[in-house]
Amino acid sequence: MAKYSGGCEHVHTSSDNDPIDNHTCHCSVCKRVTGQDTTHVAFFKHGDLHVDNEGGLNRLPFNDQNPDGPLELCVCAECGTPIMLDDKQHRIRVAVPNLMGYSSDFPAPSYHAFYDPASGTPEPSDGRPVYESLRPDFVWPEGS
Ligand SMILES: [Zn+2]
Ligand SMILES: [Zn+2]
Repeated sequence: MAKYSGGCEHVHTSSDNDPIDNHTCHCSVCKRVTGQDTTHVAFFKHGDLHVDNEGGLNRLPFNDQNPDGPLELCVCAECGTPIMLDDKQHRIRVAVPNLMGYSSDFPAPSYHAFYDPASGTPEPSDGRPVYESLRPDFVWPEGS
């Protein structure tokens, strides 16, 4: 068994390496796509998250208001389950553990990202750091 595995009955994802970033996302795109107020988002290095049946995926722009952006939402062509976000620049692959078939013991997010004080949402008070972007020390991996 891989350390992390997700997907649906038609397409499976797996990684033996930990995510390189694991946060609670407050951005408007995640809100719109997931329908959740906040979204647990894990970034894997692109080469770490394996997909066993890439041909079984339909690819859609993650942000339909910025269709030329780098991230694509990949959903199972058979059943419509969201499987991952894939990066056209091959830097990262993104998992939303609770929607993409991962087990409930997925490590908890370490901080809050893209919190917008102007949104009117109270600032999170769970003790984890809160940033208006990704954490300042996050470094994007090289594309491949
Ligand atoms: Zn987001
Ligand atoms: Zn499926």
